[in-house]
Amino acid sequence: MTSSQMPSAYNAADVEQRIYEDWQSKGYFNATIEKGKEPYVIIMPPPNVTGELHLGHALEKAIEDALTRWRRMTGVPTLWLPGTDHAGIATQWAVERQLASEGTSRHDLGRDQFVETVWEHVRKYGGIIHEQSRRLGISADWERHRFTLDPGPSKAVRTTFVNLYEKGRIYRHERIINWCTRCATALSDLEVDYQDIDGKLYNIRYPLQDDPNSFITVATTRPETMLGDTGVAVHPEDDRYSHIVGKNVVLPIMDRPIPVVGDDALDREFGTGALKVTPAHDPVDFEIGERHGLEVFNVIGLDGGMTAAAGKYQGVDRVDARQQVVAELDQLGLLGEVEDYRHSVGHCQRCSSVVEPLVSLQWFVNLGGPDQPNSIAGKAYAAVANGDITVVPERFKRVYLNWLENIRDWCISRQLWWGHRIPVWYCSACEHMTVTIEDPDKCESCGSSDIVQDADVLDTWFSSGLWPHSTLGWPDQTEDFDYFYPTAVLETGYDILFFWVARMIMLGIENTGQVPFRTVFLHGLIRDATGAKMSKTRGNTLDPLELVEKYGTDALRFALTTGTAPGNDLRFGENRLEAARNFANKVWNASRFVISGLEGKSGLEGWYDLKDVQHREDRWIISRLDQVTAEVSESLRNFELGDAQQKLYDFIWNDYCDWYIEMTKIRTRSGEGPSPLPVLAHVLERTLRLLHPFMPFITEEIWQSL
Ligand SMILES: [Zn+2]
Ligand SMILES: [Zn+2]
Repeated sequence: MTSSQMPSAYNAADVEQRIYEDWQSKGYFNATIEKGKEPYVIIMPPPNVTGELHLGHALEKAIEDALTRWRRMTGVPTLWLPGTDHAGIATQWAVERQLASEGTSRHDLGRDQFVETVWEHVRKYGGIIHEQSRRLGISADWERHRFTLDPGPSKAVRTTFVNLYEKGRIYRHERIINWCTRCATALSDLEVDYQDIDGKLYNIRYPLQDDPNSFITVATTRPETMLGDTGVAVHPEDDRYSHIVGKNVVLPIMDRPIPVVGDDALDREFGTGALKVTPAHDPVDFEIGERHGLEVFNVIGLDGGMTAAAGKYQGVDRVDARQQVVAELDQLGLLGEVEDYRHSVGHCQRCSSVVEPLVSLQWFVNLGGPDQPNSIAGKAYAAVANGDITVVPERFKRVYLNWLENIRDWCISRQLWWGHRIPVWYCSACEHMTVTIEDPDKCESCGSSDIVQDADVLDTWFSSGLWPHSTLGWPDQTEDFDYFYPTAVLETGYDILFFWVARMIMLGIENTGQVPFRTVFLHGLIRDATGAKMSKTRGNTLDPLELVEKYGTDALRFALTTGTAPGNDLRFGENRLEAARNFANKVWNASRFVISGLEGKSGLEGWYDLKDVQHREDRWIISRLDQVTAEVSESLRNFELGDAQQKLYDFIWNDYCDWYIEMTKIRTRSGEGPSPLPVLAHVLERTLRLLHPFMPFITEEIWQSL
């Protein structure tokens, strides 16, 4: 192309698709193994398979693409591996909503039919997000794309489960879980949102067994759970109660004697200092129950109705049961004061229903902790504490370590149908559990064919926790795994440091003996221009594809990644986009000016590898170029992309365009001194290279014209 073919204004829409197809057809993004050279590898965070691109994805991809392109341009073998996540609860929930609108449900369809329906949904909407991602110009190796339910990653999931089981690190245990009765699933602690709500605190009197006219008063916000009480706890040094510790009280309504136990963990100052203990429906009570060997009665069922253990309240919904229990206690003369009480209540992150803590048989991974150096969490702690993994920005290192210091075992079973089904088969004949990678056809202990697979699937984060090694072929010893693992950088939002990053570190070290990545680079959240969180309900979101249409991909990418420090939230408004588009136009116009000047001119030899620059102005711009080149590289090495771009912006806009080009115009008109054309071309070419990782399309288009 020549300048006469360069339109007077840069039109992104005419350029982007053509260039992207050209890159792809030439295989520029496909990683190759070059033995002897250390590769630069980023595994892309896998978005939900049926999701759509939002601004957060665009930010993440702009950052990762810039890092990848920068390294690739320096001759390093690069791999940026894309993929998608089956997103257990999110995808299942989307299909369930669709079924509900059609007047049916997954229970009507049955498991096999339902799973097939989800697959249809995935085939229909899956991959849209990566079609959209291509609009961002990202240089991912699409030929290595992986889906969490692909055979390879699925084999990695089963292998991990079986290995952990055989090492005794996976166990099945009755435990309090957060249960959403609406979604009919267990939620991890991270999937529960706590909100303060106005409730009531009910005081209830429990008569002493050997002195029915004396009472111990307990207080609760959930009186219906008293039907499942199996004890009352007091502090062992509380003088008010020392005479009754070890004796029984009679549980009202159920007429069941339950013991009064002394427990150090009790807060004497709270309420009456006596706590009703419902091990089945409260995590604190569960632990007290474990310490004192109290029985566990589930009185609230998985469907939110009262169970047989609730006696005559069996079958009553939990909400109605509350009113009825309170009324009966009142009638019995055992209801004390009812106070207004504002307290924190867990809600399902997905559907906002009140979460019901209840006891259920679940699968857990024993993570240990920092005090056990050989435990899963212990190794993950050490990897960051001792610097095998660097966290950028550094303040998140402390956040990560604190979290691991308080970590509890990880509940990995989910009562869903969409996902990796737990590879455990129960034998009806001998009750043995067969845990294998391949589906068995008989019990490995007694040989009976009467075996049933566990109904639950694994937490979505279990498979994404394996992502850096499962995508590269582990557990098979593939060439890719051998060459590309451990990866260089894991880049993601700080909001999933615990959900995802910590689990990749734990499972990566557990499975491979090596850290999954050398650096964790966390970006901040995008907020609107006023600093408010962007959300669909607030109506302040911006659609990245609309912004691409309006401003061009390069302007969007530049606007997203300029002027913020790593890990800081970004206030984002259209003024940033306008500034970025103006910058793109500035680059375009300067380039047109230079390229038109070059046409038909002789004496340009050597412009590419300029030597022996004499003119004072030329020497100045060359020295500024050298300086900015060094600074940009330094900033990129420190993951300060915003800084790198700001320096480039200032150099191009001020030094190159406003000063140097203007001075060369005067020189050319006067006809004095050496022609500035070789230096103009040289600086432009080098600057385009520096800018390319951030604004890939416009720089490529101009570069091809040079
Ligand atoms: Zn829910
Ligand atoms: Zn058996």
